Amino acid sequence: MALIVQKFGGTSVGDLDRIRNVAERVARTYDEGNDMVVILSAMSGETDRLLDMAAKITKTPDSREVDALVSTGEQVSVSLMAITLRAMGYKACSMLGGQAEIFTDSSHTRARILDIKASRIKELLEDRNIVIVAGFQGVDEKGDITTLGRGGSDTSAVAVAAALRASRCEIFTDVDGIYTADPNICSKARKLDRISYDEMFEMASLGAKVLQIRSVEFAKKYDVPIHVRSSFSEEDGTMVVYEDANMEKVVVSGVTHNKNEARITLSKVPDRPGIAMQILAPIAEAGIGVDMIIQNTRAGNMTDLTFTVPKSDFDAALEIEKEVAADIGAEDVLGDKNIAKVSVVGVGMRSHSGVASKMFAAMAAEGINILMISTSEIRISCVIEEKYTELAVRALHSAFGLDAEG
Ligand code: ASP
Ligand code: MG
Repeated sequence: MALIVQKFGGTSVGDLDRIRNVAERVARTYDEGNDMVVILSAMSGETDRLLDMAAKITKTPDSREVDALVSTGEQVSVSLMAITLRAMGYKACSMLGGQAEIFTDSSHTRARILDIKASRIKELLEDRNIVIVAGFQGVDEKGDITTLGRGGSDTSAVAVAAALRASRCEIFTDVDGIYTADPNICSKARKLDRISYDEMFEMASLGAKVLQIRSVEFAKKYDVPIHVRSSFSEEDGTMVVYEDANMEKVVVSGVTHNKNEARITLSKVPDRPGIAMQILAPIAEAGIGVDMIIQNTRAGNMTDLTFTVPKSDFDAALEIEKEVAADIGAEDVLGDKNIAKVSVVGVGMRSHSGVASKMFAAMAAEGINILMISTSEIRISCVIEEKYTELAVRALHSAFGLDAEG
């Protein structure tokens, strides 16, 4: 007998039939003698629906009230699940974040979990209840409802698994695991049996939307192995675990792409100390995250500075830089939304060389121009023209020997 945490995403609980399917799956694992804690997302589309309503009232709804609003999505799914399980004859009980004593800081809409007491969960488990916990939400020291950022139920699941020292944390989703590339654009992509926390972290931050990034950080910190698998099949998915010696043998584990960034260039900027700060500080002050930055030197004490921001912040960032350019005497501000970032990721890069040149050669062979480059210890990313994204992913996938046979 073990304590198992299972998390089901929005699509898996999208209607009453699907809730029933999940309930049967949970009941089966429970009947094998396991203690079960189930974490749920809101029914698919619900969080967006609620956010849209608030946005119709005002562009800037108060974030405390937004949390009170969006957290209702999970309240609906957990109670429906408990009602379903009870109707099937099982002992089941739903819990909101506050009832489960999931304590967070007070940063509404992007709160961080500080501590989980889970005393009532433990009592209910003692009494052989299936405990259904609302994902995505917690409560701050004032007792106000907080939420953990989009996709936050993954983090709730990992955090609850860590707090209860569960033997397994299974994340059920609408894909059957983590792939070497997005199967929608690369037909030769393969499902990975195992991936390390660090690789998963890079892939999650590069736009492979299967797990919320913070859940991966949490899993690594508290040593919680995650099993990512499909709610619509019995097949094993992908284990996200500590890296082992075998993983190092593979140079590149996956190719990812991200079309959600745009770039901004300030050209002919007078090259003097403090210039990068003058250009980028106002962007940070506006709460806009910058991903890549490159600076080129020109003749005559001039420099060009290029950086990328999320596409959704592009217009705001461009406005800011037009003012900055006038202030510092830069010649021009150029923006480009039609870019994409393609990356190769693998812990094997730590011990292998020549990965970057192989990547550049594969792009050159397809006639793809590289606009920007950035690297980390286990990742190389290139910004290219958006229209070449699919071609680049497929070329890299095959260049690094990831293609499935046949
Ligand atoms: N319901 C929330 C969202 O849509 C949290 C989650 O699904 O993980 O972002
Ligand atoms: Mg999700």
